[in-house]
Amino acid sequence: MFGIGRKHKWPGFSKLNEECGELIQVIGKFMGSDGEINHWSGNLLDKLYEEMGDVQAAIWLVTDKCKLDHRRILTQATYKLKRFNYWFDNDTTVVSLNEKYECTCTFGNRGREDMCDECLKRGH
Ligand SMILES: [Mg+2]
Repeated sequence: MFGIGRKHKWPGFSKLNEECGELIQVIGKFMGSDGEINHWSGNLLDKLYEEMGDVQAAIWLVTDKCKLDHRRILTQATYKLKRFNYWFDNDTTVVSLNEKYECTCTFGNRGREDMCDECLKRGH
C-alpha cells in the first residue's frame, strides 16, 4: 500500500518514512556528539546533507505520485518558515499561556501569510 510503484495506494509513503527516520538519526548523532561533526560513524555534516536531500526527494516523490496539492504544501512551508524566522529573530519559542492576549488582526480571514507578529509568536 505504501511502497514505491503504481500499484500502491500511497506510493512513496514508506520511503518518506524511512528517509525521515534517517534524518532523525543523523540529528540524534549531532546532539549526542554535542555538535561535533567528526563522529565514529563518519562526517556528520556530509550525512546531514545526504539525508536532508533524501527527505526532500521523498517529499517531492510523494507530492507527485500521490497527486497532492503542491501549492498547499508550499503555502504551509512559507507560513512555517516565517514563524520559525520570527522565533529565530526574537530568540524565543516560549510564550506563557497565562499571558493576556488580545490580537486585533484578522488573520483568520486573510490567510497565514498576513498574520501579525503576535500570531506568529503564538503559532496561531
Ligand atoms: Mg537516506
